[in-house]
Amino acid sequence: MNISTVAVIGGGTMGNGIAHVFAQSGFRVHLIESKQEFLDRAIGTITKNLGRMVSKEKISQSQMDESLGRIQGFLTIEEGAKDADLVVEAVNENLELKKSIFQKLDVVTKPEAILASNTSSISITKIAAFTKRAKQVIGMHFFNPVPMMKLVEVVRGLETTDEVTQTIMELSKQLGKVPVEVNDFPGFVSNRVLMPMINEAIFAVYEGVATPEAVDEVMKLGMAHPMGPLRLADFIGLDVCLAILNVLYEGFKDPKYRPCPLLVKMVDAGKLGDKTGQGFYTYQK
Ligand code: NAD
Repeated sequence: MNISTVAVIGGGTMGNGIAHVFAQSGFRVHLIESKQEFLDRAIGTITKNLGRMVSKEKISQSQMDESLGRIQGFLTIEEGAKDADLVVEAVNENLELKKSIFQKLDVVTKPEAILASNTSSISITKIAAFTKRAKQVIGMHFFNPVPMMKLVEVVRGLETTDEVTQTIMELSKQLGKVPVEVNDFPGFVSNRVLMPMINEAIFAVYEGVATPEAVDEVMKLGMAHPMGPLRLADFIGLDVCLAILNVLYEGFKDPKYRPCPLLVKMVDAGKLGDKTGQGFYTYQK
């Protein structure tokens, strides 16, 4: 299938990066937000990030201008998605919100349009079942910061066809990314492997094995991780880590995914990491 117009729903942390990489790769992008101020903020972030690439001489000023010229903002899904060949949904990680959006997309988009979700933990099969085109629903899981990170985890729902999967694999390559195909199981591959490691690092602190700094130093220097697991957990958001661990715990009904009580306590206390200024480390806001 030929894809030229891509609608991106949600212009937050992930959505503005997704819009950025599609526009930079020559696609027409319809960026859809719920309020004008959020749309302005998203376009502002894309402009700033492209500007940084110009100052580092990675792209020229005219490439930046052309990329921005390919992005058009919309405040309704009806208007922004109606002539899209592909929709990438990147709204908040909330099942009810995603349900309402996919139900609407199923009605307003072209029958052949592919509907993708950037969800990090919700079942693609479940999202697909909100539509009457489950064969054309797929996970396109980008990583933060999107313009920098190479991976796209391409998640096949139970009914996703080979043809749709192939289209998204090829498209991801056109974005300069490396797609990896996985099947739809809780946490896919990325979070199924990452979150138990983060949880175990938190257990090590909880049980007094070592300080957060010591745990991170061991993993950085001994395992060549660029960032220790606790620093990474702070960066991702401890609430997000807890939510994903709960998805794994509920999804597999296996106690090995039980969130560490210290993680639960920190989230209860509002110590969510980088975004609140306090997690395993303290951050200047
Ligand atoms: P975010 O809160 O930064 O952005 C979500 C955006 O969606 C907000 O700007 C909000 O205004 C917008 N939105 C909400 N309802 C909308 C609607 N009805 N129409 C249009 N826009 C709407 O969230 P995020 O971190 O960008 O996460 C988005 C998705 O990406 C989630 O599913 C998350 O699980 C996934 N994800 C996040 C990360 C990450 O590191 N943040 C990584 C991979 C995947």
